[in-house]
Amino acid sequence: MKFSKSLSILLLGALVVACSTNPFTGKQTLALVPNSQILPMAFQQYQEFLSENKVVKNTADAQMVKSVGQKIAAASERYLTANGYAGYLADYRWEYNLVDSKDVNAWCMPGGKIVVYTGILPITKNEAGLAAVMGHEVAHALANHGQQRMSAGQLQQLGAVAGNVALSNSPENQQIFNTAYGLGSNVGIMLPFSRSHETEADHIGLILMAMAGYEPSVAAELWQRMQAQENGNTPPEFLSTHPSSSTRIQNIQAWAPEARAEAKKFGVTSFKR
Ligand SMILES: [Zn+2]
Repeated sequence: MKFSKSLSILLLGALVVACSTNPFTGKQTLALVPNSQILPMAFQQYQEFLSENKVVKNTADAQMVKSVGQKIAAASERYLTANGYAGYLADYRWEYNLVDSKDVNAWCMPGGKIVVYTGILPITKNEAGLAAVMGHEVAHALANHGQQRMSAGQLQQLGAVAGNVALSNSPENQQIFNTAYGLGSNVGIMLPFSRSHETEADHIGLILMAMAGYEPSVAAELWQRMQAQENGNTPPEFLSTHPSSSTRIQNIQAWAPEARAEAKKFGVTSFKR
């Protein structure tokens, strides 16, 4: 009896600790599974993904993905540190890889593990367009949207395990993790983010791309090009999880001056387009 009571208190403690503040919005978010447990699993999945796919190396495009990625990562660190969240990304192990695939897709796993597919490059068109996509994907990771996307049932299942000892690498947990982050055998087949998460990622992503030295209004042009793809025979996978819309494009245009102003606080005064 006594044992089970202290166990419940322990579990309750784990749940309370797991509720964290989103540093970009100040909102409390549910993160039943802490980063210390999610990230090792993400890193392992990322390595597996790279070993099963053709990573493009030493090309101008691969170099561009790395260079833009590094700038977005540096912007994230600077922004968080300046806003009182130094150390928020301490467990991140940033990595940026270009993968040879005709799929129109890109994603960032928790912990800063990014993949860009060659198929998205004709739509991103240039460095600033790529920065818009990478900023948006990094924003989803920074705001822990993947974890929040898990269903209540999945969270409960994972939370129970996390509360007990540690998140194990059991096939069940792998499956839940893969579904939430769109990995494993179903890479790219991801549950769509909610509209509010999309809006949040657009807003955060815009600030990051501006701080990285790219003209934020280019993001609106990128989504216009995405929208044009939507009407084709096979709409890109990326659009099934990130639907383009005129609201999105209007929002981005309206936020661009704010993103530039934010970047200027960090000494960034010119924006590449
Ligand atoms: Zn998104």
